[in-house]
Amino acid sequence: MIEAVLKPGGDAATALYIVAFSLFILGVKRGTHPTTAKQGNLVAAFGMAVAVVTTLLLDGVGNWGLIALGLGIGTAVGVTASVRVKMTEMPQMVALYNGVGGGAVALIAWSEIRHGISLGETIPLDTLIPVLFAAVVGSVSFWGSNIAFAKLQDLIPTRPLAVPGQQAINVVLLIGILVACTDIAINNDDPSQAIFIAVLLAAGLLGNLVVLPIGGADMPVVISLLNAFTGLSAAAAGFALDNVALIVAGTLVGSSGTILTMEMATAMNRSVANVLFAGFGGAPAGGAGGSTEERPHVSIGAQDAAIKLAYADSVVIVPGYGLAVAQAQHAIKEVGDELEKRGVTVNYAIHPVAGRMPGHMNVLLAEADVPYEQLKEMEEINPEMPRTDVAVVVGANDVTNPAAKNDPNSPIAGMPIIEVDQAQQVIVIKRSLSPGFAGIDNDLFYESNTSMLFDDAKKAAADIAAEIQNL
Ligand code: NDP
Repeated sequence: MIEAVLKPGGDAATALYIVAFSLFILGVKRGTHPTTAKQGNLVAAFGMAVAVVTTLLLDGVGNWGLIALGLGIGTAVGVTASVRVKMTEMPQMVALYNGVGGGAVALIAWSEIRHGISLGETIPLDTLIPVLFAAVVGSVSFWGSNIAFAKLQDLIPTRPLAVPGQQAINVVLLIGILVACTDIAINNDDPSQAIFIAVLLAAGLLGNLVVLPIGGADMPVVISLLNAFTGLSAAAAGFALDNVALIVAGTLVGSSGTILTMEMATAMNRSVANVLFAGFGGAPAGGAGGSTEERPHVSIGAQDAAIKLAYADSVVIVPGYGLAVAQAQHAIKEVGDELEKRGVTVNYAIHPVAGRMPGHMNVLLAEADVPYEQLKEMEEINPEMPRTDVAVVVGANDVTNPAAKNDPNSPIAGMPIIEVDQAQQVIVIKRSLSPGFAGIDNDLFYESNTSMLFDDAKKAAADIAAEIQNL
């Protein structure tokens, strides 16, 4: 039997928690650069291990059988998921993990209320208010994240689902939650558990109703926002439990989630409010929808593409969502390698919202060992475009659409793009003329300097690499 050795709030426990959250901060810092991101993950995971072990060693922690069972199930699910889940399914996995975090916080809040009631003493407001905050926000996050997961996993339709009278219902739910929480706080000498459960349920319903009308393709922004909510609710639970590690970890998640949400919205030239309330982003990603009208365009095969590329001086490869779907990162790296062997300068242009989650393209290209120096941010590569001989767009669409610059009425008007249309020649690899996530046609496909190569990105890249070898 393990004996508890640390006093809650004592010097040793506090020192260990400081070590833990210093490691969290270091992990986040290292996570901001692709070359150190993996290490950052390990550092943060080690910090979490220190925090968990410290908490388990606190005086008063018991029921080791249940704790071991929870750790065992959690580890088994986590390890299996991280091995099995494909990169393109990562957003829904994050949604699920985030939801579980919010749900755990809501349950902790519930257990704190039950504990307070069972003691029969007045629950001080400086404990009760954070508990209520954690319960409401954690429950919103849990139920909202479940809907986000279901949409991304195609368990429910990804299009915006309108619920009749939804705004009014949301307002009524919010007012009801506030009134119920006020009642619990006023009666803090004997709070009603039934009212508390009603608060949890109402917050859950609110979470569902807020996320249902949002299009599936906007989910990454919503997940990032819900992630920030989970962080804030965990920080509130930290105040209630007087646990400094939880306060710092929750605040880190809350603040970084908020920054990420705002950065994603900015990169799409939308406000967070527009993402939440505009019902945009319902077009099936990379599939049919939008205009299918045939306009004149030039179509080429792998051999022609290989010739254009092999005799160029500089080539810029622009990856997008289709590269992720096709898992074409290794094949495209092979194309880059073949071109470099022939003395061609090769760079990769990374748009901040290419793919379906922040850093999606960086992760895929890093997996294929593309040298970090060849990954160029949008601001860095755009001025180079007019001097680029060939820009190769691989499964990208919206992030290259000139309508964002030229058409003020376009749904993506104002979104910064990779300006491939400025290159001397453009090759676009995708399977058809279908639109991307925004559901709109792309004028780039019909420009005089653009050639379309209609194929799966992985197959096309492999064919081009083979053709270059044969030249
Ligand atoms: P898009 O969604 O605009 O286009 C992807 C293209 O990939 C499709 O047009 C599709 O065309 C093609 N494609 C799909 N499968 C394959 C395949 N197997 N082989 C070759 N091509 C394929 O992607 P982008 O990356 O250009 O843009 C991302 C979009 O997602 C932006 O609109 C952005 O705002 C949005 N978004 C991004 C987020 C992020 O964090 N990254 C978050 C939220 C939204 P076809 O069917 O003809 O093959």
